[in-house]
Amino acid sequence: PTILGLESSCDDTAAAVLRGRQVLSSVVMGQADLHAAFGGVVPEIAARAHAEKLDLAVEQALAQAGVTLDDLDAVAVTSGPGLIGGVLSGVMLAKGLATALDRPMIGVNHLAGHALTPRLTDDLPYPYLMLLVSGGHCQFLIVRGPQEFTRLGGTIDDAPGEAFDKTARLLGLPQPGGPAVEARARMGDARRFAFPRPLLDRPGCDLSFSGLKTALLRLRDRLIADQGGLHAQDVSDLCAGFQAAVRDVLTEKTRRALEIYLDGAPQAPALAVAGGVAANAALRGALQDLCAERQVRFTAPPLALCTDNAAMIAYAGSELLAAGQRSDMTLAARPRWPLDQSAAPLLGSGK
Ligand code: ATP
Ligand code: FE
Repeated sequence: PTILGLESSCDDTAAAVLRGRQVLSSVVMGQADLHAAFGGVVPEIAARAHAEKLDLAVEQALAQAGVTLDDLDAVAVTSGPGLIGGVLSGVMLAKGLATALDRPMIGVNHLAGHALTPRLTDDLPYPYLMLLVSGGHCQFLIVRGPQEFTRLGGTIDDAPGEAFDKTARLLGLPQPGGPAVEARARMGDARRFAFPRPLLDRPGCDLSFSGLKTALLRLRDRLIADQGGLHAQDVSDLCAGFQAAVRDVLTEKTRRALEIYLDGAPQAPALAVAGGVAANAALRGALQDLCAERQVRFTAPPLALCTDNAAMIAYAGSELLAAGQRSDMTLAARPRWPLDQSAAPLLGSGK
C-alpha cells in the first residue's frame, strides 16, 4: 500500500510517502530559524508554522514521490505526544484528507514511530531492545509489536542530547552541541577531570544527566577562577571527560536493559539504537562492543530516519493498518502519550 505520513509534533513539519517499505519521499521542513532567537522552541510559533507549512510539505512529498492524492491508500498522522498546536494541525489535515479521499486514517504515537524505524530499514524481528537517545528523549524499550512496548527505564531529568547541547553552550562551542563536543573530545584527555557516573550505584535502568552538566559548570568555573580563562586543551579535556561519562552511563544501563531483555529468551536478540545521539562514535563503539560480548545483533537506522521525519510515521501507520487498526473522525491530539500505553485505543478521545 501507498501511505502518506504526517509529522508536526515538535519543530519539524514533515510529510512522506511510503510504498511498502520503500520511502518514495521524505520532506522535512525545520523551524530552527524561527526559534533561534528565543533559545528554545516557542509553542505558538511552532503551531503557526506547522499550520502554514503542512500543505506545502504534503504537496512536495507527493511531487517527489511522483504520486497524486488518488494514489494514496491511507493517511498516517502523529496524534501525540507533542506540542498540542502542531499535533492538532496534523490531525486536522489528516482528517480532511481521509474524508475527502475516502481512505482510512491512522493516528500514530510519535515515539512508536521512532521505535519502529529499525524495522523500516532492516529485517528485524520482534522483540528487540530499543535505546532511544535524542535531544528530547532517553529510554529503553522492549519492542514486542507495533503497539506493544515495555519501558524498562529512562532519564529522570535531561536527555543526553540536551546535555551535549548545554555542554557546548557552557564551553562556547557551536550548536547542535553533540557533533561539536564529540570533535573536541577526540583531542582531549578523558581522565584529566573527574566526572560523576550518575545513578550507576542504583539498580535498574533509569538514567540522569543533569548532574554531569553541574559537574562541568563547576570544573569550568574553577579553571576560569584559577587561570583567568579556558585554554583550548581545557575545553577538549572537559569535552572528553563529559562524553566518557555519558558513554559509560549509557553503556552500563544498556547492559542491564539487555539482561532483562535476554531473560525473555528472544529468538534473534537485537539492540537497535535511534535518535540523534546515536550518531556519537564513542557511544556507538561501546554499544557495539557490548553487543558483540553478549552475542546480540546491533543495528541503527540511518540518521535521516532517526531524527524527526514523517517516513517513520507512515511506516508505523502501515504496521498498525496491517494489524487491522483504524482511527475515526474522533481521533484526538494527545499532548502526553506514554509508549507503554500505546496499546490503549487509538480511536476516539481516549477518555
Ligand atoms: P526528539 O526527536 O527526541 O524530540 P530532537 O529532535 O531534538 O528530539 P534528534 O534530532 O534526534 O533530537 O537529535 C538531536 C540531538 O542529537 C541534539 O541534541 C544533538 O546535540 C545530538 N547529537 C547529534 N549528533 C551527536 C553526536 N555526534 N554526539 C552526541 N550528540 C549528538
Ligand atoms: Fe522525535
